Amino acid sequence: MPHKSAMIEMPVPSLPPAPSLAVVGSTARFPVGRIFCVGRNYADHAREMGADPVREAPFFFTKGPHAILDAGGAQGANLPYPTQTANLHHEIELVVAIGVGGADIAPEAVADHVFGHAVGIDFTRRDRQDEAKAARRPWDMSKSFDGAGPVGAITPGGAALDGDSAITLDVDGGRVQSGHLGAMIWDEAELVAELSRWQALQPGDLIFTGTPAGVGAVGVGARLVGQVEGLEPVVVTIGD
Ligand code: MN
Repeated sequence: MPHKSAMIEMPVPSLPPAPSLAVVGSTARFPVGRIFCVGRNYADHAREMGADPVREAPFFFTKGPHAILDAGGAQGANLPYPTQTANLHHEIELVVAIGVGGADIAPEAVADHVFGHAVGIDFTRRDRQDEAKAARRPWDMSKSFDGAGPVGAITPGGAALDGDSAITLDVDGGRVQSGHLGAMIWDEAELVAELSRWQALQPGDLIFTGTPAGVGAVGVGARLVGQVEGLEPVVVTIGD
């Protein structure tokens, strides 16, 4: 008698509402569809991870939309310390929000597809990622878990930020990551153009653009404030 229980009671489920982010200067919310991330996009971070920071083609991975944490405003968001790790790492990143979809976008046309910019943290179960790398297994469960991608409010505007803009992360008031956007190996236009050759982009896509050096572990009670000059901060407290 297989599947007999399917004949009773449980209705077809409806999806939970799409995650969304605040938009600076607007009451509208930016709905988040998909999340793409680039690996090793700052030479100093590539080196600290034991990689050679050559300008090879950028590589991408994804987080599911369940990773989004709405972490704008002074209060920010609470992230319960994730299960299955004893080495939760922060990576502060500039996040690009796509407003107009497209495939095979030319670098010169990327600004026409960008809705705005925000600051995000690419949280990583580093111990699990190290295991996955050693075993040649996928990174998914080390990168894509509930709350693994807190993002602050989005500042509208398609033009890329100035390369001199500082990108920083403070943990409990002490600066642990510091760089500037111009140090990206692949800049925003190049990254979005390259990604659009692998995957047609859609409105609602977010692109995490990589982290400068200084990644490290955080524990319960830590308060993280991430900033990119000209944007709203991302604020996260690690809970039990
Ligand atoms: Mn990252």
